[in-house]
Amino acid sequence: MKKCNICNQPKPNFRFKKGKKTCKSCERTWYNSLLRWMVKERKLTPAERLGNRLGYMGSAFIMSSPYLLPYDNIGAYTYLVGAILSLPQVWLAKQWNLVIINFNLLIGYGLYLFA
Ligand SMILES: [Zn+2]
Repeated sequence: MKKCNICNQPKPNFRFKKGKKTCKSCERTWYNSLLRWMVKERKLTPAERLGNRLGYMGSAFIMSSPYLLPYDNIGAYTYLVGAILSLPQVWLAKQWNLVIINFNLLIGYGLYLFA
C-alpha cells in the first residue's frame, strides 16, 4: 500500500507507476489528457541546436553593432557577421520574416561597405 500525494488515499502498489507518488487515476484525469493531447512532444535536432547557438552569437554581434559603427565602420562588419550567424536558426525555424530581415541586413550593409 502507498499513499497518493494528490488524493491522499492509501492505494495498492499496482495503482502507481514505478517511482511515482501520484496514483494512476489522479494522473490521468480528462484535463491532463487534454493537455497532453494538445502538446506535441519533440526534441531539437542537432542542426537546430547548432543553429540556436550560432543564433545567440549572431545576436550578440548585431546587438553590439550600433555602438561600433562610429569606429571606422567596424559596426557594419559585425552586422554582416551577425546576419550570417543568425540565418541558420531562423531558416530552420521557418521564421521567414526574420530570414527576410537578415537578408536585408546582408544586402544593405554589403552595399554600404562594398559599393
Ligand atoms: Zn490519487
